[in-house]
Amino acid sequence: MRIMILGAPGAGKGTQAIRISEKFEIPHISTGDIFRYNIKNNTELGIKAKEYIEKGLLVPDDLTIDIVKDRLNNSDCQNGFLLDGFPRTLNQAEALEDVLSSMKIFLDVVLNINIDDDIVIKRLSGRRVCPNCNKGYHIDYMPPKVSDICDGCNTKIIQRKDDSEETVLERLKTYHNQTKPLKEYYMKKV
Ligand code: AMP
Repeated sequence: MRIMILGAPGAGKGTQAIRISEKFEIPHISTGDIFRYNIKNNTELGIKAKEYIEKGLLVPDDLTIDIVKDRLNNSDCQNGFLLDGFPRTLNQAEALEDVLSSMKIFLDVVLNINIDDDIVIKRLSGRRVCPNCNKGYHIDYMPPKVSDICDGCNTKIIQRKDDSEETVLERLKTYHNQTKPLKEYYMKKV
């Protein structure tokens, strides 16, 4: 099964992606996770990507498309994959189409999660994460048992830099301008 999930930041793409990829036993490919891994490990890609991510902007297409191309050519993608957070621009969607057609495969499902902006703002600005084990929390909806401390590993939980309210507003603007049109793009392909 080859699946793509579209939706605004904070729509719950990551949460659903984990469930679906486990159910179908396919790799979960999240460009956001790939960038965060590279930032954490201070790689050349991470250093470049950080500059954009912390401002709520998209990482340039040339960097992003190559990562996904490489990832899809990995042998674990032979029986399917789930794309989460890619594509985010029309240019990326067209590049993906070229990659898939050169591999003689196509997407089976494109899922779009709709969510209102005010809910996104509430969800993301209250979101916290454990920098050690990656467990997610929300200050109102899912707080840790002890304030600010991860239930799993006792590390102090943090707010992702790109979840600050100012950056969330920028990410939403980016979503409406560059990513939302993809819904229409894929609807026309049905
Ligand atoms: P996410 O965890 O999917 O919300 O991604 C976090 C951030 O990584 C986004 O706000 C973008 O700055 C960057 N990012 C993730 N995926 C892409 C993509 N396909 N194209 C450009 N930037 C991306």
